[in-house]
Amino acid sequence: MVTGGNRGIGRAIAVALAADGFAVAVTARDADTLADTVTAIEADGGTALALPCDVRDEESVTTMARDVADLGRVHTVVANAGIAGPTAPLHEIQLAEWRNCLATDLDGVFLTFRAFVPAMIESGAGSLVAISSMTGKRPLHGRTPYAAAKMGVIGLVRTLAVELGPHGIRVNAVCPGAVAGPRIDDVIRRQAATRGITEDEALRAFTGASPLARLVKANEVAAACAYLASDAATSITGEDLNVSAGVVMY
Ligand code: NDP
Repeated sequence: MVTGGNRGIGRAIAVALAADGFAVAVTARDADTLADTVTAIEADGGTALALPCDVRDEESVTTMARDVADLGRVHTVVANAGIAGPTAPLHEIQLAEWRNCLATDLDGVFLTFRAFVPAMIESGAGSLVAISSMTGKRPLHGRTPYAAAKMGVIGLVRTLAVELGPHGIRVNAVCPGAVAGPRIDDVIRRQAATRGITEDEALRAFTGASPLARLVKANEVAAACAYLASDAATSITGEDLNVSAGVVMY
């Protein structure tokens, strides 16, 4: 089960899990692009199902989880859906913008995990993975709501790992660095505008901090999720795994 599975990192995760033999349910708000993910997975011989859902909405998540449960036991849930939220000094951020970012990036993880935990407890197994961010670990100018949400995700993950370990359920976070693609292009544009620097300078703020001097690829984040879903990771829980090209090392 992958939230935000219609594009970007979420689609890469869904494709990677399908390649590992999982039947994958994908969810997001936009049904058309969800169908594209299903088509891509099926074209490679995999099995996928699209279930539109808004992770901010309790009823929407509950209905989606019930539909997924009808298909059988859920092995892994990847709470990936998220938005960048505003890029602005804190005193210029509207309460509605703050709330929307927290509702999507933190409440969405809570609602998604909560919907699947009871069945996992019953079966005595499962892997929960939340996509946090390196911004959940170190500051990024103008990004207070996003950082608060993503750091909140790490707290949620560690605490839930303690709660669910006795039930045989592992809970981990993956913390991507800046991932090449349209979303980071937009973040770079906004960083440049907010800080009065050029887009090249804003890009170098990401790549210059990396020992590998580059952005991260979506399929590298997906590989970390596939690892956490696999039997190779049976002793890994409560972890926040950086996939940041070395920008963050703790
Ligand atoms: P995209 O903007 O490409 O994708 C975001 C996904 O989340 C889409 O599938 C979108 O689908 C879904 N989504 C957004 N809001 C909701 C909602 N309310 N309900 C359900 N689904 C929703 O972003 P990325 O692929 O880049 O990001 C994926 C995750 O990785 C996010 O959590 C992000 O914070 C995190 N991340 C990304 C980084 C990057 O550099 N790109 C770096 C670090 C972390 P739809 O709009 O159709 O609902």
